[in-house]
Amino acid sequence: MAQISKIAQDVFEIWFPQFVTCYFCEEELPPDADMPLCLNCQSDIKWIEPPFCSVCGRTIEKLDTQYKDYFYKCKECQEQFVYYERHRAIAHYDEGVKKGLMGLKYKKQKYQARYFAEKMAEMIRLDENLSNFDYIVPVPVHVIRKISRGYNQSELLANRMARVLGKKVIPDLLLRKMATKKLKKLGRVSRKKMLEDAIIVNKRKQALLKDKKILLVDDIYTTGATLNACSRALYEAGCEKIICVTVARG
Ligand SMILES: [Zn+2]
Ligand SMILES: [Zn+2]
Repeated sequence: MAQISKIAQDVFEIWFPQFVTCYFCEEELPPDADMPLCLNCQSDIKWIEPPFCSVCGRTIEKLDTQYKDYFYKCKECQEQFVYYERHRAIAHYDEGVKKGLMGLKYKKQKYQARYFAEKMAEMIRLDENLSNFDYIVPVPVHVIRKISRGYNQSELLANRMARVLGKKVIPDLLLRKMATKKLKKLGRVSRKKMLEDAIIVNKRKQALLKDKKILLVDDIYTTGATLNACSRALYEAGCEKIICVTVARG
């Protein structure tokens, strides 16, 4: 089944001319466009530039010269433990990326994953602190949500990144047990507990994890709680290290 849909995707890309209209605003693109976004939409995206915290990837005003980027930790990261080694997002979550991400998440615009995933792959390839991993694993959504949406947006991002980077995705390595719909209404502590209980490693795949380095992929980083719950499950199941990447940081 997975093979069939991959073939269908390849055929689609061959048959249909690429980049006819802008992914974000649907404005017509010039015939030689090598980017699926018009110039306006491109300039609206605020890419994340260093310096940033070496753990969570938060941008900081300016780096004290005594630190190297590799070692600097922001105040939050000094105070709390996380199971992942580092997180990086490619863009700030504001109006610029929102158009594409909302389309990917809520309007069944699966094609939005492509541009973002290729940008994420480029960031990974250029940073040796991110590029040393064995498998790509998407953050899971609950099966009911996956059926109603038709796909898991993080899995689409992971698949495209894998194709660009020549790596393997394990899509069902992590499972989400229950719909975590009302998370926003819970306090920080119960939200954390509920997430940790909800995200589990697929027992049938657990053997694949032993001493492996995982690249964990999600669409948006808000508090880092979801990525940390996933990382904890992976770490406790035996994997050696976890690096997280997302499209945007809220
Ligand atoms: Zn546009
Ligand atoms: Zn930090």
